[in-house]
Parts: sequence; C-alpha cells; structure tokens
Amino acid sequence: MTKYIFITGGVVSSLGKGIVAASLGRLLRSRGFSVINQKFDPYINVDPGTMSPFQHGEVFVTDDGAETDLDLGHYERFTDTNLGKFNNVTSGSVYQTVIEKERRGDYLGATVQVIPHITNEIKSRILGATKQFCPDFHIIEIGGTIGDIESLPFIEAIRQFKAEAGIGNAISIHCTLLPYLPTSGELKTKPSQHSVNVLRSYGIQPEILVCRTSKSIPKTEKEKLALFCSVPKEAVIECRDMKTIYEVPLALESQNLCTVALKMLGVKDKKAKLENWEKLIERIKNPTKSIKVAIAGKYTKLSDAYISVVESLKHAGYADSASVEIKWINSEECIDFPTCKKLLSDVDAVVVPGGFGIRGIEGKLNVIRYARENNLPFLGLCLGLQCTVIEYARNVAGLKGANSKEFDENPTHPVIDLMIEQKNVKGYGGTMRLGAYDCHLKKGTKAYKAYGKDVISERHRHRYEVNTEYIDILKKAGLVFSGMSPDGMLSEIVELPKLDWFVACQFHPEFKSRPDRPHPLFKGLVDAAIRRHK
Ligand code: GLN
Repeated sequence: MTKYIFITGGVVSSLGKGIVAASLGRLLRSRGFSVINQKFDPYINVDPGTMSPFQHGEVFVTDDGAETDLDLGHYERFTDTNLGKFNNVTSGSVYQTVIEKERRGDYLGATVQVIPHITNEIKSRILGATKQFCPDFHIIEIGGTIGDIESLPFIEAIRQFKAEAGIGNAISIHCTLLPYLPTSGELKTKPSQHSVNVLRSYGIQPEILVCRTSKSIPKTEKEKLALFCSVPKEAVIECRDMKTIYEVPLALESQNLCTVALKMLGVKDKKAKLENWEKLIERIKNPTKSIKVAIAGKYTKLSDAYISVVESLKHAGYADSASVEIKWINSEECIDFPTCKKLLSDVDAVVVPGGFGIRGIEGKLNVIRYARENNLPFLGLCLGLQCTVIEYARNVAGLKGANSKEFDENPTHPVIDLMIEQKNVKGYGGTMRLGAYDCHLKKGTKAYKAYGKDVISERHRHRYEVNTEYIDILKKAGLVFSGMSPDGMLSEIVELPKLDWFVACQFHPEFKSRPDRPHPLFKGLVDAAIRRHK
C-alpha cells in the first residue's frame, strides 16, 4: 500500500520545499523504496507553458510531453525517476476538468462547488498518479505559502485525504524559516509557530517541521518549536543552507528526517545506501579544476529560467571533478561583434539555450559566429540550433538574408520554418511538438561518439524546424547533420567536425541530465572546455 507524505511551506516563499521533497525522495530511494513526487501549483494557468520564464522560471518538459513546474526537474534529478503529466497539477487544470464535466452533465442536478467537486478532483489527481506508478511512497508538494488564498482548495483536499487515509498512512511536513536576528544573536521561532497555527486552523496538524536556517538550531529552540507546534522533538529537523543542493539529502539524513517519517508511517526503516551520493558530494566539494562557461540568452536576469541547463553543466563538471562557473551573457548586449568578442574572451565554452521571439537573436548569431571562428566549444539548444543554422547559412553557405520565419515572415532564405503539423495549430497552450521523440545518429560523428549508440530518445518543445529544402546546400557548405528523426525529415543535431566541440540540437538534453550521470552532449562540451582551459 502506498504511503503519502504532504509537504507545505510557511513564513516565506522560495524556501526550497522542492529540494526538501526531492531530497526525501532520494533518501527513500536510497533505502530501496520506490517513490514518486507530485507538485500542486495553485495558479489558474492550466500548465506553466504559457508563462514567461521571468514569471515562473524554466518550463520543465517530461517524456510524455507535459510542460511542468521546474520542481519536477529537481524531483527527476534527485530521485532518478522519469515523471509525467500526472505529476504536476495546477488549479487551472483541476477547474478545467470540473467545468468540462459540468458542461457534459456529469453532475446534473447538483450545484458544483469548491467542496466537494474541486477537492474531489484534487484527491483523484493524487490517486491517479499513485495508480500510474504504484509507488511505496508518494510525496506531494503544495506550491505557495500557507495563508495564501489560492492554495486553500489544495490544503482542504489534503486535510480530507489524510483523514480518509487513516493514521499512519499519510503525514505532512511543514517547511518554515527561522530568521536570525544579528542584534540579539537569536534564531526566531515565532513566525514558524504562527505558520503552524494557520495550518492547524485549516485542520492540518503537521507531523514534522523542516526549518530552514542559516545557523544551527539550539536544543532549547528545538524544544520550544516541538512544544508550541505539537510535534515530537526528533521531528524538528534543521535544514541549513548548503554549498550545493545535492548535499541536502545527506544533511537531512544526518537529522534522521527519513527515519522519523518512516516511524510515523509504520514502515520498518532500512539502511540507506548513500555511498555513491556521498562520493558525488566529495567530488563537488573538492574540485581539482575550474572552468568558465557562458550562457548567452535573454532571460539571464533570472537564473531559474535556465535551471536545467545550469545543472547539466555542473553535472558534466562533477564527472571530472571540475567546478563550472557560469558567466551570464545577455545576448542583446552582443549586438555588435566587438562587444560580443570581449564578453566571450575569458570563457572556456558557450551555450546558446532555447527561447522564443526575435529579441536578442542577432546577438546570439554573433556569439555563435565567434564560437565557430575561434574554435570555442559550443552547444546550441533548440533555438540555439536554429540560430546555428541561420548563422551558418548567412556567413558560410552564402545565403544572405537567411532567417527563421519566427522572426521574419518572408525572409529571402527561410532556413528555419514552421513544422508542417504546426501550420494549422491555433492557440498557444500545450500545442508545440512536445516530449520524447527518437533520433537516429550518423556513425562517425561527434554526436554518435558521445552517445555511443544508433538511436536516442530526447525531449522536445518547439514549433519550428530546419527547412528540409536547405539541408543539401548546408551540407555542401560543410554543416554535418548528425542526428535526424526516424523518417529522416527533421534535423535533430548539427555539428562541425573540424572544430573541437561545436554541436547544436533541436531537443532539450538538459532535461535528462542527472548529477551522477551527466548528459553526453553536456559532457562533450565540458570536456572540450577543460581541454581548452589547459
Ligand atoms: N522558438 C523556437 C521554436 O518554437 C525554439 C523553441 C525553444 O527553444 N524551446 O521552434
């Protein structure tokens, strides 16, 4: 029987609940249990796919093509499990289903209400995910902060769910912040007490408190929290700021979070096999070399917008005990080539990530030209591939005025065009080419060597593609098409064999990298960067 662990947050947002949920998942997995994580997001968007990365950070894409919250990326990376569309639930998607049912007449005669209709739908989303994966443990994180109006239906649904599951089958963990007041030299517990009181007023008594803090929590303060919040002393867990997020599972293990949770859920504890994870942390904390990699995009003010790209670069570094410093370059600043040159002069590699719209495109083209002309290791992702093709067409293949139809309705050479199946698509929500598709690799290419196999599967999120009419011209000019869709129609990877590492892909490899298993394309880039650095 699946056991349930709900995770809520209080006091402030951005507490790192997602990391706590993912870390607990890792600790359970390390004990040999199967685990899934699920995220509830209280906003009205049906999914985050239509939100600006400045609003919401990266949109994480699953194998089954769901556009999801970036926390799913943490879950996948920490627990090494591929999740799917059932693992992210928004208020918008819940209301959409309930309203569709109402229009169909499923509730004929009834007044459709938040309780029970919305809360029932939320509970059925929990059970739906359980049914798909049948895990030993199902961890559910509720986005937002306790006290927010918009998360109330989710809180009410978990109250009901806990009561219906019965004692010992579902617990909740409340994550809070203990602010430190330097003037009195104290960690303050009052905001956490208030937050637990609010949670209780909704009918939920948390079983465990995870307290974010910059200092060690004195025994007296732990006792105070236990007393006022009605949790056992051993269930007040300290969660300090760590050098790397991947250290959080070890920190929580040393505080016995998993052991305490298992005891409350009536499950016999097992010894955690964390040796490999510990070795990983050792490598992360004791790098033997350091490289600098630029990310040239337009959402550089918010690093969360490219979180999987950043993590993938770091993972590739970990494998070689290299620390990877990120240099953020706003592609709009690369509009003139001399500035672009200057900005790239001190880096060992550059990534041009995915994106939408014309802003910053000419700067990205300059970045790619600089990388190509100076043998600077380069990786292009999605829009990064499209820009690579445009740059090559214009500056090497002699196709003046080459462009993407995304940026110019009628270019002289439309080297990037809307995919045929996208031509009649109306509306923006969930309508791109999404999720995992196979790609065939060409023997003898860098991509083939990196992956070491003929067929790969990677996750996509795009509307445009390389215009097949230009493939021969580009090939003749020296661009190698090293990965194609199984029908040979869609260009998935391009590369320049003479350069040390100059590869671009139409998919998003960053969604499949793991801290202890870097993605081959990021590994290729980082290895080339290390060679160059030497
Ligand atoms: N805007 C491009 C497209 O829709 C690239 C998308 C992306 O980088 N994810 O095809």
